[in-house]
Amino acid sequence: MKKNDLKKVALVGTGFVGMSFAYALLNSGECDQLVLIDVNKAKAKGEAMDLNHGLPFAKRNMLIYDGEYSDCADADVVVIAAGVNQKPGEDRISLLNRNLSVFKSIIEPIVDSGFDGIFLVATNPVDIMTKITKELSGFDSSKVIGSGTTLDTARLRYLLGSYFSIDPRNVHAYVIGEHGDSEIVPWSQAYVTTKSIFDIIDKSKGRFNREDLDKISRDVTGAAQEIIKAKSATYYGIGMALVRIVRAIFGDEKSALTVSVMQNGAYGIKGVYSGLPAIIGRSGVEDLIILDLTEEEKQKFIKSCNFLKQTAEEIGF
Ligand code: NAD
Repeated sequence: MKKNDLKKVALVGTGFVGMSFAYALLNSGECDQLVLIDVNKAKAKGEAMDLNHGLPFAKRNMLIYDGEYSDCADADVVVIAAGVNQKPGEDRISLLNRNLSVFKSIIEPIVDSGFDGIFLVATNPVDIMTKITKELSGFDSSKVIGSGTTLDTARLRYLLGSYFSIDPRNVHAYVIGEHGDSEIVPWSQAYVTTKSIFDIIDKSKGRFNREDLDKISRDVTGAAQEIIKAKSATYYGIGMALVRIVRAIFGDEKSALTVSVMQNGAYGIKGVYSGLPAIIGRSGVEDLIILDLTEEEKQKFIKSCNFLKQTAEEIGF
């Protein structure tokens, strides 16, 4: 339980993803306290020491230490990046059984600590691991969020920014559905500044075309495998995406982020976690944005969600 106003984050899993998040968090100065927890206690200790040695150069002071699950008691957000990652050629779903047993050892002691903040899950397959966190914790779904397609959306905005030669922050486009092979880019909802991407293409006199959009969407879906092949793991992008979500929570921003959220019946989908723009604030997920999808986009989104639902059900979730 919370006894003070200090902003505290607990990180479970101090591997590549966890520590990229922690390093980005330290540099952004988003919280007052950060506790690092890992089954490999020596690793958590070494990482805490290393981060602490950067404090004299940081934007602000922070308490950073390695700890136990009992340290989650007064945390506002618990970020979970523990578990196995993909090997080259391996898809995210194949991690499911191994990461399920990791989560069985993590969620209970966190809940037993008295933690009543927000869970933010990054471990893959992230949509199903988020559903598992919700079920094992018994928390309200508004307080259990997955990183979902925030990273994929960032990859999409970056590639579209390069294609149209514009700052990616002026690109308003989303990846929705599974963080994985069945994810979708609903192009009907994609804008650069205030202009629809289809309008820009139609008026570009052949400079831009829809085939290039198909390639961009394939590149977004294939980005993780390409990075894993080149350097074994992906971590900086997801680290920054997690900080972005934490900032939206602490700042009570009401920002629209494509996190993995419990679907509430829109498009006929219920009881499954999947990526969709959601309004994120101090209490977690405050609303879902229902996109005006074309029939084809809607069918692809439903298919992606049904795949996640069926895969989760096969392991009893
Ligand atoms: P990693 O192997 O570098 O780190 C995993 C960490 O988890 C290790 O420090 C390990 O000791 C710890 N761990 C393992 N079992 C544990 C347990 N039972 N309790 C506590 N800690 C435990 O892996 P990584 O590259 O950091 O990836 C972590 C996860 O993040 C993977 O599942 C990966 O697929 C996922 N990931 C997600 C995204 C995303 O967009 N959501 C992007 C990249 C990676």
